[in-house]
Amino acid sequence: MDNRNASAATGSNETIRERLGLRPIINVSGTMTALGASIIVPEAIAAMAEIAPQFVEMDDLHRAASKVVARLTGGEAGFITASCASGISLALAGAMTGTNLLAIERLPDLATGLKDEVIVQIGHMVSFGGNIDQAIRLCGGKVVEAGTVSVVNDYHVADAINERTAAGLYVVSHHTVQYGMLSLPEFAEICHAAGVPVIVDAASEYDLQRFLRDGADIVIYSGHKFLGGPTTGIVAGRKDLVRAAFLQNRGIGRGMKVGKESIAGVIAALEAWEKRDHAGIRRRESEALHLWQDTLTGLPGIRAEIVPDPTDNPLDRIEITVSPESGYSAAGLAKALSLAEPPIIVRNHEVERGHFFLDPCNLHEGEAEIVANVLKRVLTANPKPDYALMTPRKTSRTALSWPD
Ligand SMILES: *Cc1c(COP(=O)(O)O)cnc(C)c1O
Repeated sequence: MDNRNASAATGSNETIRERLGLRPIINVSGTMTALGASIIVPEAIAAMAEIAPQFVEMDDLHRAASKVVARLTGGEAGFITASCASGISLALAGAMTGTNLLAIERLPDLATGLKDEVIVQIGHMVSFGGNIDQAIRLCGGKVVEAGTVSVVNDYHVADAINERTAAGLYVVSHHTVQYGMLSLPEFAEICHAAGVPVIVDAASEYDLQRFLRDGADIVIYSGHKFLGGPTTGIVAGRKDLVRAAFLQNRGIGRGMKVGKESIAGVIAALEAWEKRDHAGIRRRESEALHLWQDTLTGLPGIRAEIVPDPTDNPLDRIEITVSPESGYSAAGLAKALSLAEPPIIVRNHEVERGHFFLDPCNLHEGEAEIVANVLKRVLTANPKPDYALMTPRKTSRTALSWPD
């Protein structure tokens, strides 16, 4: 559904962004919670609308989801929760309580005798917008860090395991340290030798089967990232662990409740994923990248290189390295683009290193060309804005002023 259809449905020429006073941003940042995640696929939108006015027995809806999740992931069972972050807390809680219903109600207080320690390689202790260690502490778990920021050896993990170890948590992300950590098969082998289950956060990963194959007992994905589903988390894997995680909905999971519309929507998104024209999408993304690269070629102080995804998803981005001859710093150029007409939001998590990325995954028809035009307009602007050469600075000021 494009903006015109959406506004037609409300009988107004105004789009919902205009009605709510929201800027018409173009997202070349990636699938970001702060930008509204992804474009929800039409199949999911239709399923959400269809189920919205119906009553359903929620356990049965979760059973239906389990079948679809199992089929796509190769896991024995699965369920849907509010987000991947929720799924991590629920899976860890399940590894701690098992099916002990009283223990589930008492979390985050631990019943005596329950295992509560969760091992994480230090290079995996990232923030994805929330901190991974908080997802552990939220369910009463204790974080046990293994290794160093730059090197983790097998004995670091083996030595961290004891009779209180509930699980090993493994994070797959461009945010983690990309060298010196144990691979998933290595990490899983050490955990499994001691009977410790392995929970994998694969929130943004395209491959729905690889991590269970590589040793995960439970894997958790975001439904609202590459899948284009509504905001959800997908938990998949060993049936006993999935059941124990699902039962947390009677406890700490209640505050992470997922609605019928989200479950129906993500089922539809999973089924659409099976039929998606992946090659066609890749081709359109590649066309956008080459258009942007051609637009930038020859502009002074700008280097544009097409780079692969750091965690091997079938996805390339363009890395734009900005030197002062362009009249901008990387941070200044990213800011100018975000203030342009229309606003272009780039992938700027490495901007202090003098570069940022453009991600082609979340474009509507015609937006690649708009991005190219804005890039050219901003880079050839004369004079440049007063902040053009700014150095990036982290500030909590805007966060603290909300809702003003
Ligand atoms: C996005 C992300 C999360 C959080 O996912 P939500 O579904 O938004 O809670 C967790 N871990 C990683 C590695 C992520 O990329």
